[in-house]
Parts: sequence; structure tokens; C-alpha cells
Amino acid sequence: MIYLDYSATTPVHPEVLQTFNKVNEELFANPDSLHNFGGKVATLLQKAKEATAKLLHVQPQELIFTSGATEANNLAIRGIAFANRQRGNHIITTMIEHPSVYDTLKQLEQHFGFEVTYLPVDHLGQVRPEAVAAAIRSTTILVSVMAVNNEVGTIQPIEAIGKILGNYPKIYFHVDAVQAIGKLPLNIKQAQIDLLSCSAHKIYGLKGSGILYKRQGVNLLPLQTGGSQEEGYRAGTPNVAANVAFAKTLRLALDNQSQKLTKVQELNKFLRLALQEQLPDVVINSPLLEGSPYILNISFPPLRPEVIVHGLDAKEIYISTRSACSSKDTKASRILTAMHLPDAVVSSGVRISLSHETTQEQLAEFVNELETVVVQMRKVVK
Ligand code: PMP
Repeated sequence: MIYLDYSATTPVHPEVLQTFNKVNEELFANPDSLHNFGGKVATLLQKAKEATAKLLHVQPQELIFTSGATEANNLAIRGIAFANRQRGNHIITTMIEHPSVYDTLKQLEQHFGFEVTYLPVDHLGQVRPEAVAAAIRSTTILVSVMAVNNEVGTIQPIEAIGKILGNYPKIYFHVDAVQAIGKLPLNIKQAQIDLLSCSAHKIYGLKGSGILYKRQGVNLLPLQTGGSQEEGYRAGTPNVAANVAFAKTLRLALDNQSQKLTKVQELNKFLRLALQEQLPDVVINSPLLEGSPYILNISFPPLRPEVIVHGLDAKEIYISTRSACSSKDTKASRILTAMHLPDAVVSSGVRISLSHETTQEQLAEFVNELETVVVQMRKVVK
């Protein structure tokens, strides 16, 4: 098997799994129980939060453990919108956000009377910081921009946007950092980010595990009411084992982050060259300098992406048509469309996503097999 769908999800690191199992086996008490056993688990949970906070250079009370980034994005956006409704009803975002941001904002528009500006991106998939500044109104309460796009890998100018928003202390800045954390450098405080979403399963952690960073002083309306867990921002008995495993996941991801990044940069370069040599009609949709090397989006017009994915499937090589969350959506990619790419390119995009564990040999074999599939399919199309 050659797995090249790491942006959809990764395997679980054995140490993460070990931590998860150990906590579930040995420390299963409810951390909110009054007895000593509960207290022991509560201490463990607090330590996991402290460790995570230290790794992100933030305060433990600024973190809310969630069931993943979808929940973190929902909590950040709806939580800010509902808590600040009396101040304004305008939100700024981009046209290329993940569905957990995009659809949440669509719902706020359609059912709750909010107004949302969806900023365009250029052919590289980047939003201009000046466009954010120009979109600000007296009623703007939130700006939400992802750090790295999950379909093409474009890196957004988060620090520049944060700097602009630094002049507007009442506008909150939310960043979906799922494809950046543990892979690319990102300094939450330096970028003046107020809310940041992370997911564990993109960085060798568990599915159904994530965090929302919420700067101290930022007011959110909780979406889940009930117990007073997570400072009242997320009611419900916490998944202690997953949260402790999150701290371990993040530590492992940040260990040697720059070495892993260098390795993936080399792999990306190798892959681009091999593709261009063996398949000269490949269209590369991911930006070279402005993109994360972990993601490479390419097209072979007029071939349909699912034909390529399934052609490779037969050889146990796994890539994506786009992001896993939208893969069953038959409409053209919203992201590639927003990048103003020709229709034929948009409707043919496939995503390859890499890991530091990927090897050049795997990539060389992938390109060989891809060549076979593309040549065969082209004959059928003609
Ligand atoms: N945002 C981005 C950019 C993503 O890539 C994903 C995962 N596809 C999510 C949010 C959702 O994360 P989760 O799977 O943890 O809900």
C-alpha cells in the first residue's frame, strides 16, 4: 500500500495509542467526581492541558478540549456570533474555507440574520490582507481565515491579517489551523490570533479529538450547555484519555518539526519534478512558494478525478479527489473555482498529501502507476 492521503487523516502514533489505552484502562474515573480517584484523573487532565498550552505558548485556561476541529470551528464562530450579536452582525471570511467554517457561516446568514463577506482569493488561493481591511464595517465582529487550505495547501498571510486586526480590538480573529499546526511554524500570540482550531487526527493523533484556543477575555456563548466542564464552554464528561493523548500528539508533532518540514519540502520537489517529467500535461494547482509542501493538488483535464482515484485504488495507492469532507460532493471544487482556474482543470483536480514518513521510492512508484492510469484513461476518453 502507498498512502498519500495524510491531509484526510494519518495513522495513530503508537505512543499516542499507548497513552490513550493506559488512561482508559487505569484512570477511567470521572474527573468531576469528588472522590480521590476522580481527583487523580482531574489532575491528569489539568496536566495535559498545561502541557498542551506550553507547547502552543498560551495559557492552560485559554484551551478548550473538543471532539475535533469541526466542533472547534463551530464553537468559535457561532459562539462569537451569538455572544456579540448586540454589537454587530457582520463577519468576514474567505471563499476557500473548510466546510466546517463555510457552512457554519452560511447557516448564520440564512437562519440568524448575520451578514458574511466571502473574500475572493487570487490564482494561488491567497487572500489579500488589504482586502480584509477594506471589508471591515462598524458592525464587523469576527474575521475567520484558515492558516493552510486543505485542498491545495495555500498558506494565508495570517500574521499580516492579525496585524491589521490589531487596530480593531473589538473584531475577533479566528484561524482554522488544522493543516498548519505541527507542520508549519505558527505563533498564536505574534499573529494576534484570538481563536484557533486544531485537530489531532491530521498529526498522528486520534480522530474525534481537538482543541479550541480562546484568548483570555474573549467571550463565547457555549454551544453545549449542561455541566461546568471546560470552564463552562463545553459541557459534557470529558474524553480524558483522548485529551491526554492530544498533549502527547502535539508534543510528538512538534518534535523536530523543522527537520520533518525540510524532508517534506524535498519530497514535494521530487514529486513535482517526477510528475512533470513523466506526465508533461499535468496541471499543478498548488502554489510553489505560497503553499504547504504537505499538499499537492494536480489536474489531468479532461479526466474525472474519481476515475484517477479509483484507477489507483486497484493498485492500493490512496489519494483524494479533494478534501475527504467534500469528496462525495459531486459539484465542482469550490476552492479550485475560487482560484479562477479553467473549468476543465477545476473538474479534474486530485489531492496528494504527504507525511515525513513518505519516501521517494513510494513517490516514484506512485508516479509510475499514475502514468499508467492516466495513459489508459486518456485512450478511453478519446
Ligand atoms: N479544517 C480543516 C482545514 C480541515 O482540513 C479539517 C479536516 N478535514 C477540519 C477543519 C475538520 O477537522 P475534524 O476532522 O477534526 O473535525
